[in-house]
Amino acid sequence: MAWDFATDEDFQPKLDWMREFLDSEILPLEAIAGDCTPEQWRELTDPLKERVKQEGLWACHLGPDLGGQGWGQVRLALMHEILGRCEFAPMIFGNNAPDSGNAELLAIGASAELRRRWLEPLLAGKMRSAFSMTEPDVAGSDPRLIRTRATLDGDEYVVSGHKWFTTNGSVADFLIVMVVTNPDVHPYQGCSMILVPTDTPGVRIVRDIPNMGEPHIEGPPRPGGHAEIVYDNVRVPATNIIGEPGDGFVLAQKRLGPGRIHHAMRWLGQASRAFDMMCERALSRSAHGSLLADKQMIQDMIAETKMEIEATRLLCMHAAWHMDRHGASASRTQIAMIKVYGTQMLYNAIDRAIQVHGALGFSADLPLESMYRQARASRLVDGADEVHKVTISRHVLRGYAAVDGWPSEHVPTRRAAALERFGDILETVTANL
Ligand SMILES: Cc1cc2nc3c(=O)[nH]c(=O)nc-3n(C[C@H](O)[C@H](O)[C@H](O)COP(=O)(O)OP(=O)(O)OC[C@H]3O[C@@H](n4cnc5c(N)ncnc54)[C@H](O)[C@@H]3O)c2cc1C
Repeated sequence: MAWDFATDEDFQPKLDWMREFLDSEILPLEAIAGDCTPEQWRELTDPLKERVKQEGLWACHLGPDLGGQGWGQVRLALMHEILGRCEFAPMIFGNNAPDSGNAELLAIGASAELRRRWLEPLLAGKMRSAFSMTEPDVAGSDPRLIRTRATLDGDEYVVSGHKWFTTNGSVADFLIVMVVTNPDVHPYQGCSMILVPTDTPGVRIVRDIPNMGEPHIEGPPRPGGHAEIVYDNVRVPATNIIGEPGDGFVLAQKRLGPGRIHHAMRWLGQASRAFDMMCERALSRSAHGSLLADKQMIQDMIAETKMEIEATRLLCMHAAWHMDRHGASASRTQIAMIKVYGTQMLYNAIDRAIQVHGALGFSADLPLESMYRQARASRLVDGADEVHKVTISRHVLRGYAAVDGWPSEHVPTRRAAALERFGDILETVTANL
């Protein structure tokens, strides 16, 4: 029997340190982040990154050969649950999206030279990266439709296409671009990933797209923006390909699997923060002669939220455990389930917390307003909910078969079968009455 829900004793102190560090050093920065210039922000956060490195908690998603800890997904999940409480924390721990996924991608597939040139500074926190796959003209939900092309010309690839929602694209030092390298075969064999330095001639950052998370984009580009990018005959060395030509989809699965589960754990951190705020307010505010906490409808919201958080946590830990045992590809259904369920849990938790705070919850005087807007993206980022539900139901249905005639639970049919099997006993019992 190995159903063990306990955290390893030697690991718990690391989680305790992270929680304390987050509360005392990182969360206070949140209230002034919007006022800082990039230089001021670096001055504030660089010492924190050093503390994390000294503690041996920098870039824990990577193996020891790359300066990380080589933690499995279960440990990473517990860490992301804590870091998820504050949007800046993953960056201070060297494992923020999209850099963390891109680093894993380069670690898996890049040549030694690409790793030296791009991965090492990325891991050291000296560079930023972006992952450029989605295009405005075709459905991102069906990446087989990708149009951006990379054509081999001598010892260079020439990349042409139009992407958007490339997170951090406008501040990245390099872009990992999903392209068609061979249009004559199925896209699963004809797509590749190519590393494009952002300052290569022909890379045009059109804009950071105003969105629900950041409706009014002003000033210079900042991390967290979602860029629209035109690649206009961009020439890069053929050796900038990651993996082999045609490896694009295989690499994408490897990159997106861990990324999705890390997102889900960060959502748990966000939801727990909203939940803490909701409970505090319920115990502090009175109306109609009693505390909100004493009203059954508020208790219902608290109970529902707690149950959804716990259910998500179990699903998430199970998915993490499954990945550690069986790898990302064999865990696609578990990852899809946590992606869909986690987004709903997150949205419900923040929505209820806003409700319990009344007008204050709706105002920008609390972080809930911004958390709610950011949370909406979770139903689209890394694949729309509907697409993940397709994955889940396809997998589930593989365990079933169609029947000819009545459903297998049809009562008259089952009764006839039972009478035939047990009829003798029924007759004996009846005769003895
Ligand atoms: C905040 C944010 C950050 C992002 N960051 C990145 C990034 O860094 N890099 C990157 O490449 N992309 C990024 N994306 C893009 C994201 O991956 C896509 O938005 C997503 O894959 C959906 O693609 P789409 O927007 O083209 O929607 P579409 O594919 O056009 O889908 C629209 C809707 O159609 C429905 N739908 C689609 N397929 C099905 C189906 N089979 N069954 C039922 N309904 C279906 C769903 O409701 C879906 O929401 C980001 C998006 C957001 C919002």
